[in-house]
Amino acid sequence: MSRFFSSRNKDVTPYTPGEQPKDMQYIKLNTNENPFPPSPEAARRAAEETLRNNIYSDPRCTDLVAEAAEVFGLDKDQLLFTNGSDEILDFAVRAFGSESYPIIFPDISYGFYSVFASIHGLPSVVIPLTESFEIDLEDYKGLRGLTMIANPNAPTGIAIGRDRLEAFIAEDPDRLVLVDEAYVDFGGESCVPLVKKYDNLIVTQTFSKSRSMAGARLGMGFACRELIAEMDAIKYSTNPYNVNRMTMAAGIGALKDREYFEGCCREICRVRDWFTEELKAMGFEVLPSCANFVFAKSSRIGGNELYLGLKERGILVRHFETERLKDWNRISIGTEEQMRTLVETLREMEA
Ligand code: PMP
Repeated sequence: MSRFFSSRNKDVTPYTPGEQPKDMQYIKLNTNENPFPPSPEAARRAAEETLRNNIYSDPRCTDLVAEAAEVFGLDKDQLLFTNGSDEILDFAVRAFGSESYPIIFPDISYGFYSVFASIHGLPSVVIPLTESFEIDLEDYKGLRGLTMIANPNAPTGIAIGRDRLEAFIAEDPDRLVLVDEAYVDFGGESCVPLVKKYDNLIVTQTFSKSRSMAGARLGMGFACRELIAEMDAIKYSTNPYNVNRMTMAAGIGALKDREYFEGCCREICRVRDWFTEELKAMGFEVLPSCANFVFAKSSRIGGNELYLGLKERGILVRHFETERLKDWNRISIGTEEQMRTLVETLREMEA
């Protein structure tokens, strides 16, 4: 560590992104990307926009906001676009967390929640999942703070019904609930309509998964006007041009091409359900997933051994080294062909 690195940052453990090795062509099932390319409409609009890159992007994202307001049935001031949904999670933590208003989240969930709390020097409260890897909202009773719930959760894929979340949001108007819906389009129930009714709710979504735009970095937040304006104030205090021109144009195209989006989601869910049955037939334990990945445990091979064996054979999955997760692997859903290759490889390995 250099002598200049601020002591403010010394206890921060950075987020570890999924590996992207370049030594060979892998079947990449480790970062929950979409195996299909972005909608042709998104690609066409992005390509055209490159010609206008001499001018800064629109910090208000006017056209994208107008399109999304129509698609989601909200007012324009109930939406905020960011550089991936990671950025809106960061804005929310900065805007609403404080010494007396901690960041609350499950022990097994998206790794960035704890990273954002710690980089901003904020207290966190970590609530363990149940024995069956579920979020039990009863365990959050009486706790007040910015409560971050991924729904469906990652890396488990397990979803909570909207009615249960609504009861939780309604239970304490002074608890600010952030529902992270990165994977909601693969079978979850969205809480977006609830932002019209509750002023203690933020919902976040991403174009990285269901809209095949992980590399373009586009996230969106939904909340009442006041909360959006407060997160917008953080944006204007950090990076007003956070969404670049090509991404903004691609986002409009992706929202317009509903048929393509729905077709990709349907296909991924179909392949996920088939793959889950194949894994179960091989003796794997598989958690019930509403996402574009499954969390699975072999009855014969340890989690790390399985991960390494697959990597050697050209297939990347995600393994977590923590005590409770070490027997499991998170496997993103690719094309049917990729998943058939994986099933054959698992058979060869006698997993
Ligand atoms: N939330 C969850 C639960 C995620 O798994 C991810 C991506 N890995 C994100 C948010 C952030 O996605 P992005 O920044 O690509 O929108």
